[in-house]
Amino acid sequence: MVELCSLFSGSSGNATFVKAGNTNILVDCGESGSHLEAALRQIGVEPDSLDCIFITHEHIDHVKGAGILSRRYNLPIYASVGTWQNMISRIGKIDTDNIRYIKGGIKFGAFDAVVTPFATPHDSCESVGFTIEHNDKRVSIATDIGVMNKTVYESIKHSDIVLLESNHDVDMLLHGPYSPELKRRVRSSVGHLSNDDCALTCSHLIDCGVRHIVLGHLSLDNNTPSVAYATTEEALVMKGARVGTDVTLEVAGRYAPSQKYQL
Ligand SMILES: [Zn+2]
Ligand SMILES: [Zn+2]
Repeated sequence: MVELCSLFSGSSGNATFVKAGNTNILVDCGESGSHLEAALRQIGVEPDSLDCIFITHEHIDHVKGAGILSRRYNLPIYASVGTWQNMISRIGKIDTDNIRYIKGGIKFGAFDAVVTPFATPHDSCESVGFTIEHNDKRVSIATDIGVMNKTVYESIKHSDIVLLESNHDVDMLLHGPYSPELKRRVRSSVGHLSNDDCALTCSHLIDCGVRHIVLGHLSLDNNTPSVAYATTEEALVMKGARVGTDVTLEVAGRYAPSQKYQL
C-alpha cells in the first residue's frame, strides 16, 4: 500500500507526505516546523507518527523545517553526501544516529519502504528525486529538474503516481519580472522544468502505466495553476487519454494539501 499527499508545493516551499506500508515519510521539509505539523494534522497524520525524512537537495524551499522535525521527533534524515554538506548549516545540529547517507541509483530500505533515489539535473550538489515502493505499488517525486533526461524518465516511468515539476510557462518567464540572469538560470539545463516539457513527459508517462499525475513546484511569478493544468491536459488529450478517467491530473496547491492518493 502506498499513499501520496502533497502538503506544500512551489518555489515558496515543498513537502510531500508518503506512506509505504506502515511507514510514514516526509519528502522535503521546506516550511517551518509548525506549518508542517499543522499540514500533517490537516490530512489526519500525527507528526509523532512520522518515521523518517527524505531530502532532495539543500535549497531552503526543501529543507527549512527538517532540523526542527528531526530533533523534535527523533527522525532519521536521508540525503546525499553533497546535500548533507550543504544543508547542515541551514538545518542545525542533527543527532549522529539520524544522519543517513544515500546515493542516486542505489536502492535502499527505510522501514517498510523500498526507495530508489535518482540523480536530478539541478544547480545544487548531488540533488535527487525519489521512487518509493511497497508491494508493487510505486510513487515518484521529481521536482527541481532543469531537463527531463533519461535517468529521471527511466526512474519514474513505471510509477502509479508521479508528482512532477511544472515550474513555468516559457512566455510568462520571458516577459516576466525576473532579471535576465535569473531567467537564464531557470531555463538552463540545471534550472526548472517548464510546463511544455512537463506536458510532453506526461504524454509519454501515460503509455507506461502512470495513472495519477500531480503537477508541482509552480513558480509564483511565471505560472498559474490553470495554465500549468491546461498545458498538460492538452498534451494528454492529444494522446487520446480521457483526463479524469484514464488518468487523473491535479495541480498541487502552494499552501494547501492535495488529494490523498491511496493505492
Ligand atoms: Zn525547489
Ligand atoms: Zn532547488
